Amino acid sequence: MDKNKNSRNRANDGDDKIRRGKRPAKKRVCEYCQGHIDHVDYKDAERLKKYIAENGKILPRRATGLCAEHQRDVTTAVKRARIMALLPFRGE
Ligand SMILES: [Zn+2]
Repeated sequence: MDKNKNSRNRANDGDDKIRRGKRPAKKRVCEYCQGHIDHVDYKDAERLKKYIAENGKILPRRATGLCAEHQRDVTTAVKRARIMALLPFRGE
């Protein structure tokens, strides 16, 4: 009866605290929160360009360092900017 418990035991505690990889956790502050810009403007293509990769894809949150709220806003803004032909759907 103890079998199941035993196999679970190892993964149970503190496993998510272990950081793999060499890169230390860098403290990143969301640029929009920091700059007190609460509205992400889709017409601001220069700013939005930082959040898309060279191939035109929207960068993931781990790459942009934005907070959830602003990452969501940026995603929407980039999509709008694409339609307005301010940003590419596909990179050069
Ligand atoms: Zn933010």
